[in-house]
Formats: sequence, structure tokens, C-alpha cells
Amino acid sequence: MTDRCAELAAGLAEIQARIQSACAYAGRDPGEVRLLAVTKTWPAADVAHLVDLGLTEFAENRDQEAAPKAVELAAARPGAAVRWHMVGHVQRNKTRSIVGWADEVQSVDSPRLAVALAKAVAAARTRGERTEPLSVLLQASLDGDPERGGAVLSDLPELADAVVQSGELILRGVMTVAPRAMLPPAAFELLATAVDRLRKDHPEAIEVSAGMSGDLEAAIAHGSTCVRVGTALLGYRGLASP
Ligand SMILES: *Cc1c(COP(=O)(O)O)cnc(C)c1O
Repeated sequence: MTDRCAELAAGLAEIQARIQSACAYAGRDPGEVRLLAVTKTWPAADVAHLVDLGLTEFAENRDQEAAPKAVELAAARPGAAVRWHMVGHVQRNKTRSIVGWADEVQSVDSPRLAVALAKAVAAARTRGERTEPLSVLLQASLDGDPERGGAVLSDLPELADAVVQSGELILRGVMTVAPRAMLPPAAFELLATAVDRLRKDHPEAIEVSAGMSGDLEAAIAHGSTCVRVGTALLGYRGLASP
């Protein structure tokens, strides 16, 4: 094992222990909480190490970085069953590229974006570049801050309808990033309430992507089914990085 691989193995063991104990504390089955490794700013070689350590789900926040990384990983670990998730702001002119590498887009925050993604999926299907429909999560904004992206909670039902009506997207649930100005437990509780409401009309919206390196325990306590971890697994990204 290389030093970096050993470092990643240690980070992974620590995160898995945190998920285990957060689940024990919340009385939940750890099998209900998926770990998404957020590999933005880190090289494909790190993703390959994480694949060797048994991880299968990876997330990126920029198409320019993710598209070549997914290609590099496929070359480094041919046949590995990995799934890539887009968790960053999606520019509508990038949808064609994104549907080329992403299995799931967690950051759908407007009906216009849903329509653009659906068109891109249909076009990729026609070209024979994609066979699977695209899974999507609705990104919820808990404080309405446009910088962070996300739809305000009162817009989620309309957004969910747009996703379902698009015909090419599969609604899987919701995602959020806790606002800095809110205590994480309060933020995740607010999200849980919104998800309960959404599920009345869309029972298929089962995924709750919430919790990152700093707040995954609070997210798990409030029903997260998917934690997105970068720093605590791979290290600090440095000041200049997104
Ligand atoms: C970077 C990022 C993460 C991971 O954050 P860490 O604090 O490094 O764990 C999770 N979700 C999104 C949307 C991100 O952009």
C-alpha cells in the first residue's frame, strides 16, 4: 500500500466509524446511509485508491473537472462498478457533457434545468451514448440564499412535478447543504419536514442527501440516507479550491 492509499484507508475507517456511531445513537441501521466520496480537486489516482478500498459512489461539483476524471478512472479501473454524482451548480449549457458521465444529478433546482437535463438525456440516448435514465435529487435551499443554489422549500412540489413530467429523469429525493447561519440540527430537521410533505405526492422520493464532513452526525439523526464527505476522507482542499 502506498502512503496515500494508507492515508485514505485511515480516513475511510474513521468516517465509517462516525457513520456507525451516529446510526447507533439515532437507532438507525448503518445500511440505510450511503457514503458518497466527494473527490473534487483530488486526482483520479485517489479515486482509484478509494475503489480499491471498496467505495463505489463518487461526487464532483464541476463538469470541467469531473468529465476527464471519470474517463481517467474508467481507464485505471476498467469494469469497476462506480457511480458518479453531480453535486454542484449545473449550468444549462453543460448538461450535454454532464449526462455523459453522471449517473445522478443531486443539484436540480429549477424546472428549466430539469427540462434541459431531460433533453440532454434524450439526445444522448438517440446518439447511443446513454442507455440509463438519469436519477435526480432536488436541491433544497433552507435559507433562500441564491449563492448556494437550491430551490426554496415552497417550490419543491412544483419542481418535483417538472422532474416527473420530463419523462427522462427519475426523481429519487432531495439534497441540501446546511446554511452557515443555521445550526445543523435545525437545518436538517427543516429538511426532514419538507421531505415528509413531498413524499405525500411523490413516495418515490426516498433519498435524503444531507451531511458533510462537519455535520454528518446531525444529518444522520434527522434521516439522511446519503452523506457527502470530502475533507474528512481525502484531506483539506486548500484555500484556492472550490
Ligand atoms: C465539497 C462538497 C461536499 C463535501 O464537503 P466536505 O466538507 O469537504 O466534506 C459536500 N457537498 C457538496 C455539495 C460539496 O460541494
